[in-house]
Amino acid sequence: MPKRPAPRQDAKRGPDPAAVAGGAAGDGPPVSELIPGRPTLTGVREAAEGCQACDLYRNATQTVFGEGPGKADVMLVGEQPGDAEDLAGHPFVGPAGKLLDRALTEAGIDRKVVYVTNVVKHFKWEPRGKRRIHEKPNSAEIAACRPWLETELALVRPRVLVCLGATAAQALLGRSFKVTQHRGTFVPSSLAPRVTATVHPSSILRAPDEESRRAEMRRFVADLGRVAAELSPE
Ligand code: SF4
Repeated sequence: MPKRPAPRQDAKRGPDPAAVAGGAAGDGPPVSELIPGRPTLTGVREAAEGCQACDLYRNATQTVFGEGPGKADVMLVGEQPGDAEDLAGHPFVGPAGKLLDRALTEAGIDRKVVYVTNVVKHFKWEPRGKRRIHEKPNSAEIAACRPWLETELALVRPRVLVCLGATAAQALLGRSFKVTQHRGTFVPSSLAPRVTATVHPSSILRAPDEESRRAEMRRFVADLGRVAAELSPE
């Protein structure tokens, strides 16, 4: 077992009072003040390393910024880095990331044309025994982190934007967007020429049995297949 880096704050100290109140009180300036005047992906990624704009940085190991080509055809946006991503410092490298890689391959999307990122860049978790269990970021934390995502979108300018899971979809497409109802459909949005949503790959891993996992994987690959069709030359 690799040694887990110590969190920046002992989880036993409890959450920040402002976070309990639904805020996202960090200890640093807002993200808008951290973004370089002439942003580049490298410059923005470096600036995000020291971000303390919301409370999430405290219990996480490091900022996990988006990764992929500077002019990617496709941007995939998830909710937040998970346990493995927090330790590695890279997005979608854990079990859900490996499943995503497999699904992209099956859908015929070259991983090299894909930029992957999350709506928040620090891992939010709660202790359960020795494990760190994913906890959903609240709307204040998502709002605090949003300028990083907007800057990624402005720099990468993907042809197709894909929200992975309800948190990303509702953050980017509005709270009334229901992934269960609208997955795989393209919706009008100013964020990219083509915008869609599907499930988060971690939900497939949580399927109750092998049969439903296979069925969910087929649906996920079908959704990504619609993205692949958008990339094909006419
Ligand atoms: S989650 Fe986003 S806004 Fe909050 S500290 Fe991390 S990078 Fe900054």
